Amino acid sequence: MAITPKKTPISEQDPKVRARNFKEVCLGYTAEEAMKEASRCLHCPTAPCMKGCPVSIKIPDFIAAIKEGDFQKSFDILSGSTALPAVCGRVCPQEKQCEGVCTVGRMVDKATGAHNEPVAIGKLERFAADWKAAQNDPKPAPVPYNGKGKVAVIGSGPSSLTVAGDLAKLGYKVTVFEALHLAGGVLMYGIPEFRLPKTIVQHEIENIKALGVDIEVNVIAGRTVTVEEIRKQFDAVYIATGAGTPKFAGTPGTNLNGVFSASEYLTRINLMHGYEFPVYDTPAKKSKHVAVVGGGNVAMDAARSALRLGAESVTVLYRRSVEELPARIEEYHHAVEEGVKFEFLTAPVEYLAYSGDDKNEMGKLVGVKCQRMELGEPDASGRRSPKPVPGSEFTIEVDTVIEAIGQSSNKVLLNAWPELKTNRRGYIEANEETGGATSIEGVYAGGDIVTGAATVILAMGAGKKAAQAIDEYLTKKAGK
Ligand code: FAD
Ligand code: SF4
Repeated sequence: MAITPKKTPISEQDPKVRARNFKEVCLGYTAEEAMKEASRCLHCPTAPCMKGCPVSIKIPDFIAAIKEGDFQKSFDILSGSTALPAVCGRVCPQEKQCEGVCTVGRMVDKATGAHNEPVAIGKLERFAADWKAAQNDPKPAPVPYNGKGKVAVIGSGPSSLTVAGDLAKLGYKVTVFEALHLAGGVLMYGIPEFRLPKTIVQHEIENIKALGVDIEVNVIAGRTVTVEEIRKQFDAVYIATGAGTPKFAGTPGTNLNGVFSASEYLTRINLMHGYEFPVYDTPAKKSKHVAVVGGGNVAMDAARSALRLGAESVTVLYRRSVEELPARIEEYHHAVEEGVKFEFLTAPVEYLAYSGDDKNEMGKLVGVKCQRMELGEPDASGRRSPKPVPGSEFTIEVDTVIEAIGQSSNKVLLNAWPELKTNRRGYIEANEETGGATSIEGVYAGGDIVTGAATVILAMGAGKKAAQAIDEYLTKKAGK
């Protein structure tokens, strides 16, 4: 049977409408559409897609179950490898992982000579997870205590949630400490509602809590609870405190009123519901003209959020070309459809201050001086390095700049725990081969606090390995 060259289309909110609301952009497959898309899978015996998945989801099997209409079986297969399928189906960079190596995507359509589109693995994963959530089944029951020990998990992002869920299923007593007032890490405070609805994250967290995991929010490990207290009360520790400290490029004028880090901007919107002011009392700035600096997922999220807050224009300044853009390609396309403008090969050189006589306007940002770039030789990252083009400066008028040029490690716990070895970049030294073992016995680490800012699935993959390592460590210690 001939394979349909294109993915089964999926419903999305109209770009003009969605650019002004925070509701989810993609509306998901119906059961019929999911079964149709599942029938494009060839069930390759070598399953290259599985090798492309950092947590080795049994992709051909879960897709086969959807094709048969057995959605419960499909969900069960997914659950064997991932605790957060509804999240992964929405935000994983599938085009670089499973879908990037899918056999269907490598085949050429005879009629057009063009490559087929790969099977929509991410959208199918999301379908199975959403179908399961809609069944309103009873929550999983806690597993009785195995008597082997108590584990403290610091941070509540995807890496921590994976460790906590896996260890609770093995019968450990698990307590998660989260500094913020809601659990979920970047899934709650970074990725906006229109890409990842918060009810979905909370649904997944409720399932983990139902397993008996105790999640204590508003607790800063290293401050509210000291390292000594944690060591005394717990037999093992997993640290996944993430990389949420904003970096600034140091562009002259960064201190002007109107220059934000993407971390602050997005946290105000997502976690503090800034877009629902005055229902929530943390307003987010209503801007007219916005420039976003950077080209990753964080930059796309900031740009699209600014549009939704009512900005008349949003321009992304990226110093390389579209080919090097690190953001998920789907998010870039969505941003373009919604009206975000892109200035490629462009970098800011100065943020410009108001220079008139009105004292109330002093210190306010009024524009960005930019410079065009050209690409030179590849740098250490393998990407061609941008070089300024002399005499190419130009100015754009903006009242808001959002810098999204990367984050560094969260330091509070690291500063309170000097015995914990870190590397030159300020991240925890943890051995991937031994499930994230650190320089301290019984203390493991994973996710962005080890790798630097990466992806949800890599953070989860580290959590899976760490759960196994912690289980082996505590089993040995308990002599069981
Ligand atoms: P985090 O999710 O960062 O969670 C760490 C948690 O630890 C935080 O809640 C923090 O408050 C808490 N914490 C820190 N210090 C302490 C302490 N001392 N005590 C208690 N708690 C503490 N990845 C993708 O795969 N796809 C995407 O589309 C994508 N988009 C992104 C968009 C944005 C805006 C951002 C910022 C990131 C995005 N990422 C994306 C990256 C991804 O979200 C991260 O790689 C992932 O969340 C890392 O998980 P983690 O568990 O290591 O840490
Ligand atoms: Fe199906 Fe693509 Fe995986 Fe082959 S590589 S089993 S076609 S999803």
